[in-house]
Amino acid sequence: MAIVKNEKKKAGQQTLGGLYGTGKVKKRREWRGFKDTMYDYGRWLILWKKMIKISLSRGFVKGLLRYRWMYYYLSVPYMVDKFTLGQRDEILRITHTALDIIVDDVALVIKCCLRADRRTGNDKAYSEKCVLVDENAMVSFMMGFPDLVALEREVPTLFSSNLINKNSAVHYIDVAQAYGIPGDVCPMPETEAGISIEDDFVVGGKCAVQVNSTCDGSMLGNSIIANRLEKDYGIPTFQMATPLRHKEEDTQKYAAEEIKAAIRFIEEQTGAKWNWKAYFECAKRVNETTKHRWDWLDVNSTDYPQFFGAVFSLYNDTNYMGNCGRSLTFPLYDRRVDALVNKGFKNKCMIAPEYRHRCLVWGVQPQYAFDMLYWMALCWGVMPLTDMLSMVIDKPIAEEDTPENREQAYYDMAYLSENMIMRNHTHGGYKVLVDELWEHCERMNADMVMLWEHIACKALTGMHGQFEEQARKRGINLVWVAHDLCDPRIYTKQAVRDQFNLYMRTIMREEPIDPTLEVLQDDEAW
Ligand code: SF4
Repeated sequence: MAIVKNEKKKAGQQTLGGLYGTGKVKKRREWRGFKDTMYDYGRWLILWKKMIKISLSRGFVKGLLRYRWMYYYLSVPYMVDKFTLGQRDEILRITHTALDIIVDDVALVIKCCLRADRRTGNDKAYSEKCVLVDENAMVSFMMGFPDLVALEREVPTLFSSNLINKNSAVHYIDVAQAYGIPGDVCPMPETEAGISIEDDFVVGGKCAVQVNSTCDGSMLGNSIIANRLEKDYGIPTFQMATPLRHKEEDTQKYAAEEIKAAIRFIEEQTGAKWNWKAYFECAKRVNETTKHRWDWLDVNSTDYPQFFGAVFSLYNDTNYMGNCGRSLTFPLYDRRVDALVNKGFKNKCMIAPEYRHRCLVWGVQPQYAFDMLYWMALCWGVMPLTDMLSMVIDKPIAEEDTPENREQAYYDMAYLSENMIMRNHTHGGYKVLVDELWEHCERMNADMVMLWEHIACKALTGMHGQFEEQARKRGINLVWVAHDLCDPRIYTKQAVRDQFNLYMRTIMREEPIDPTLEVLQDDEAW
């Protein structure tokens, strides 16, 4: 591919490796030029304001003393710094804008969890209005319950805490293994099981809905969690089974019936009634999100991608999975991000001095090393155009309230659930996992694929040979980067980066554009 150079020669001018020492945080803040440094500093102050605000919410101090995972949130500013490394101009503003709503959303989830929690906030009336939902559920079955709260207690406990502190899951993995769960299980369900075994989840809600996303590993975790919910805490738990062969026509009726059953269960348990008006309003917002996301992907298929990397993925994740159109705020942020993407594209804004390769990132990412997507661009000039988890919903759903659309809506909610971020490519056969990758490569003009090889994910490792064979045939440069999802003891962050370094030096025979980033002493860092 043709090398794209930064005409403005602003981004990536300094040697960014100099910012790192051997401690938990960087040696100093990054100098981005006066205007961008002031902007970034302003966002940093606003972030602290948000953190102080949430610390004043009901049950927060008790929660901090009761739950191990709560401490990790003190290092949120470090996470934001990881995700803004080397950024300038519109790209910096896009990342901060998206992170703004992501942080707000997680803060709201923590606030709701602690308020409903029997041990801390203990707001009984509020808890009666809460439905515990699985972290891996696309919460489409809550779109028509505007008066109920979908309590996603696994998000702050596992998902986002591992983004903030790479060691957040380690203790719970050890707890699960001490209990007898084998060490080669995927660390995500294993951590969730460990949290439940140690009784470190908040306890609240009138009932719970679990889904079989994403795989048999996550079903194992769910069975341990459901056991505790029902037997110890008397919280009835519904199991929603979404078909794994989600592309097959003959599984759709069954998937729609499962959605109906989940809704019926919630109605029976909470006394709430499904509200079609609220559902179709949510559907409109989901469609707006889908339109924006495809527009941003179109920009990323040009020489000047604008919204990419870890935050692009997290934004899609929070927007679809956690909210599914239920948030009134997300569309406002969609529009703000959209305006910045268009401006950045017009101004040919870049994150690095040059882009040498256009890379599609496939597979399930390590939470603890997700910032690596920016590192690839800054160290090697390899631009991550998009990632597998962002390639979710690709068609609009019915948004007008008509009798026919009310029946179609169950199929649409099932479609959203089936396309939950991890499962829509890891399950459903080689077509969704392998063939679709090449279609996206063509669409995004990619000449390289970085394949996250999560060593405990059977869904992906089973297709290793097919990826290799087909990439060779298509002339795509394919680099495998192995990791263990949220356990940094198996592959440290540097061990993850080293696999990429080795490939770039020995196979691509290239030199880094910023050699100071090749090896970082961040073993002690969060
Ligand atoms: S990463 Fe793989 S093994 Fe782990 S939950 Fe997802 S699909 Fe299952």
